[in-house]
Amino acid sequence: MALLYKADPERGRHWQALFARHAPDIEFRQWPDMGNPAEIRYLLAWQPPENLTGCLPALDVLFATSAGVDQFDFSELPDTLSVVRMLDPAIEHGMIEYATFATLWLHRRIGDYARQQREGHWQAHMLRPASEKRIGVLGLGQLGTAIATHLVSYGFPVSGWARTMRDVPGITCHAGQEALDDFLASSDMLICVLPLTGDTRGILNTALFERLPEGAGLINIGRGEHLIEADLTRALDEGRLSGAVLDVLRNEPPPRDHPFWRDERILMTPHIAAMTQPETAFPVLLDNLRRHQRGEPMIGQVDRQRGY
Ligand code: NDP
Repeated sequence: MALLYKADPERGRHWQALFARHAPDIEFRQWPDMGNPAEIRYLLAWQPPENLTGCLPALDVLFATSAGVDQFDFSELPDTLSVVRMLDPAIEHGMIEYATFATLWLHRRIGDYARQQREGHWQAHMLRPASEKRIGVLGLGQLGTAIATHLVSYGFPVSGWARTMRDVPGITCHAGQEALDDFLASSDMLICVLPLTGDTRGILNTALFERLPEGAGLINIGRGEHLIEADLTRALDEGRLSGAVLDVLRNEPPPRDHPFWRDERILMTPHIAAMTQPETAFPVLLDNLRRHQRGEPMIGQVDRQRGY
């Protein structure tokens, strides 16, 4: 039985060594050297090859190398194929680290101080205590919950919004469209950790920004397509929003003439909030492979109807 890996070749070598050492019964093959396709039951990939069914006729499970699965076109995948997302603890750790950094960067106005330093200008601004800066987390799943819970420890009042009602100790939880207005009205800092689906694409737009308190901050660590980028510029120009930290962009990298490159109110990073680490992801993947071999449910299986 074989697993085909189709993602970053350098990390592929790490995965290969881990399989050789801990699961020698599963033959590890690296795209495009796939050998006999009829022997491949598992695909570990960022993007599946085109014409998946023709290419890998015996495939049982597509394991994403990422936590998000929006890069897959589910309509192109065989109905019987299970899709499992990556629940590497290193991703959770990275997202907590990045969301904390971004929250404190905006909260402590570090962008303003960096600009003042460049201008040779020494001036302190009033510091609003964390207890008065309300944080709202869009998406209370694996990652949103971890981020929300961590930020509470800094003294921020934190609320979260999901599709269905969640119960997270220390977090004020909201669910569904009918609760969105109340949630937004109490979010001085909005962190988007939603999956990208038909329902969430473009959710960060003018209509949403208008429901936030004046001067709110925005952090997007979900996907670039959650944000209508021109609406962010407008909200910043109007003072509706005070600043933004974006780890994800509609086009990565954005074109050279994209206005965000030169906008000092926006901090952009090249999709680095979290990265799958083979060393910590391997035990998670192997556990799922063994579960599949025993006919047990896998952890992180995607609901293909829901899209996440
Ligand atoms: P989960 O599937 O665990 O959680 C998703 C959350 O979003 C759930 O709370 C879900 O609600 C909520 N949600 C989904 N659709 C809607 C909707 N229409 N309305 C309201 N709430 C909704 O995902 P994760 O937390 O593991 O990951 C979230 C996303 O983070 C990923 O999909 C990916 O896009 C992004 N990501 C970004 C990374 C980066 O480096 N920037 C790295 C890793 C992930 P419910 O609880 O009711 O199901």
